[in-house]
Amino acid sequence: MGSDAIVIVGAGHGGVQLAASLREEGYGEKLVLLGDEKDLPYQRPPLSKAYLKRATPEDGVLLRGPDFYPQNKIDLLLGERATEIDRAARRLHLKSGQVLDYSKLILATGGVQRRLPIEGAHIDGVFSLRTMEEARALRDKLETSQNIIVIGAGFIGLEFAATAASQGRTVDLFELADRPMARAVTPQTSAFFAEAHKAFGVNLHFRQSINAIKGDGGKVTSVVLNDGTAMAADMVLIGIGLVPSDELARAAGLDAPNGIKVDERLMTSDENIFAIGDTVYHYNTHRGAEMRLESVQNATDQARTLAKLLVGKPANYDHVPWFWSDQGDLKLQIAGFLDESDQIILRGSYEQRAYSLFGFKNGALTGVESINKSGDHMLARRLLGEHLPVTPEFIADPESDLKSLVRARR
Ligand SMILES: Cc1cc2nc3c(=O)[nH]c(=O)nc-3n(C[C@H](O)[C@H](O)[C@H](O)COP(=O)(O)OP(=O)(O)OC[C@H]3O[C@@H](n4cnc5c(N)ncnc54)[C@H](O)[C@@H]3O)c2cc1C
Repeated sequence: MGSDAIVIVGAGHGGVQLAASLREEGYGEKLVLLGDEKDLPYQRPPLSKAYLKRATPEDGVLLRGPDFYPQNKIDLLLGERATEIDRAARRLHLKSGQVLDYSKLILATGGVQRRLPIEGAHIDGVFSLRTMEEARALRDKLETSQNIIVIGAGFIGLEFAATAASQGRTVDLFELADRPMARAVTPQTSAFFAEAHKAFGVNLHFRQSINAIKGDGGKVTSVVLNDGTAMAADMVLIGIGLVPSDELARAAGLDAPNGIKVDERLMTSDENIFAIGDTVYHYNTHRGAEMRLESVQNATDQARTLAKLLVGKPANYDHVPWFWSDQGDLKLQIAGFLDESDQIILRGSYEQRAYSLFGFKNGALTGVESINKSGDHMLARRLLGEHLPVTPEFIADPESDLKSLVRARR
């Protein structure tokens, strides 16, 4: 029963980092990394940034070079989908019919873009953006399209909209909420980005939904708004959020209320099965609540933590959450959480397009949003990660030298 092998399902940010970290931590047994995509594992963030703008070649976005896997004795199985976990026998069944024995199984399965349940959501010219395969098709279609509709003002929709507008396309973006990135940033930063996108040439429509997507000969021609208005469209990008890929776990009877539930050691309700990345539902110590996080930071830090644990070293996942998004000439970086702040303090200026918002709750720093202020962001990560003392008064004083807060700790 079982074997000495560690088997990782999902060769994305989390899975690849885990395989690399396991070898770095000295794990010397069999290591299998399998993923259902055919492409060599790659970074996702550039798909809506540099790759979309053709500012980087395809091999520029690879997570590791092709030699990395054989050199590190990582059995990389691409185009292979895991279909069933036999927990009692510690066996993983693949769609190809192959069966893999494991001693420890790690689910790093990420998620899929949420589908829009409306007429026409699957016709030619309607895209979502999660994979390299989708990014290739999207980028090619962008070259030949003039009227572009984006559904959803989240990070992916906004990054894509800014790029499309910068290439002279007519871009209309529809969002159900009353502001962009409503789930992720403060109202102040939403307002700032709404103005910025107008200046980029993106037509933003809030509190609006799309009722149907119409086509001719199977190709998209227009979208129909909830008030019945039709708008011409050569292509449509739907970016309305992620659904965690937890079906394998649920079918195996693992606890997965909204993604796969893990404890602070990233263990699921089966002691031989762990999970990392976008698909994970965990208690976040910085938030003080159970949640899922969709970020490279979360996937890679969970992977590094789990690698240590799997080789028997002490570790806990309690890293500071951080995230970034590039929209036009604006770099947004977020450390921690600001949504429960009772005090938000601005440093810098909206007019100069360079500012940070420091969020405090009961006098304690909880998160920092920075726009074109990478120095503030890096500092915020240290302040939050090392629990360094900082007061709202200190932050509010424009004369205060932020670096002095960390300098004292060196
Ligand atoms: C366009 C885009 C832009 C982004 N920009 C940013 C950004 O700027 N900053 C940031 O922090 N994050 C960004 N993200 C999010 C970031 O990419 C994710 O948080 C990260 O990829 C999560 O890593 P993961 O390993 O959990 O999942 P993934 O990287 O998605 O990897 C999971 C893999 O598992 C595979 N899989 C699923 N089920 C199975 C199965 N049953 N069998 C085999 N394989 C399976 C999937 O196909 C996938 O290849 C972006 C994402 C996208 C799509």
